[in-house]
Amino acid sequence: MSETLENCPSEDMRALFSKYGFKLKAVGHSGGRSYHSSAEGQVHLNVRTALAGSELHEPYGLAFHEFGHMVDWLAGDGAMYASAKSGIVKAIDADWAKYKAKVADKLVSAHLANLSTRDLRKEMRRMGNELSDPAMKEAAQKARHRVIHGEASFAEIMEDRAFGEAFDRFYEAAKAGRWDVSKEEIERGVWERVRAEAEGKSLSQIGSLSDVLQGASGECSPLGAGHEPDYFKCEDWREKRATEFFAEMCDALATNPKSYRELSRMFPTAVKEFEELIGRLAK
Ligand SMILES: [Zn+2]
Repeated sequence: MSETLENCPSEDMRALFSKYGFKLKAVGHSGGRSYHSSAEGQVHLNVRTALAGSELHEPYGLAFHEFGHMVDWLAGDGAMYASAKSGIVKAIDADWAKYKAKVADKLVSAHLANLSTRDLRKEMRRMGNELSDPAMKEAAQKARHRVIHGEASFAEIMEDRAFGEAFDRFYEAAKAGRWDVSKEEIERGVWERVRAEAEGKSLSQIGSLSDVLQGASGECSPLGAGHEPDYFKCEDWREKRATEFFAEMCDALATNPKSYRELSRMFPTAVKEFEELIGRLAK
């Protein structure tokens, strides 16, 4: 394990583990699962999978994961993991929202491109009702004459400022899933994209990503790994999500550059938060 750590490209990670290294304790098992127990002040390791690796982890990956939890605990205040007080969970949520927004934007744009101005007007009137936005309803109403009698083009009806502004609000609401035709499609589209981007990648490459996704979405990710979403549905869910991310990152940084790339790809802000955090904790 120390050799793996020596090869870790992150100086802060090396410093952090040497700072707390002498406090790390483990009991080995020949079977069963691996976990950190803050109450016992030690880590339980399934020696074979923790050291040799598995479908899900590179060699030593699981050990770095569990010791990552322990370092996180030791660096905390004795009542909470250090990561729980960082901005990690907020950053994960922001990254996830941004990812979903990008997918929503594409899907809604494609829908709108296929919509006649007549139907767009109708949809806006309906949305105006639903959102209790009288200005949107009115703008749609006002466009009625032009659209019905001349089939005015999209650019033409957008010339009206009130309509343009109402359209912007409609578009935002549609991307947020408030439009009948977009809600389910966005949800499906997001997971489809997640799956497409993971295609051909190994479980050890995307396993950590999958776990973070389940915490972020509260759903089973289609990538097929990680804690059940219910694991995160508890009173201390924020702390659990924070320390899981911390542990996944320790695993990735020390043993699994491909997993590190995957986590950075979807959760760049959270990865940055983690790196800043270990920089502070390593001092
Ligand atoms: Zn864990």
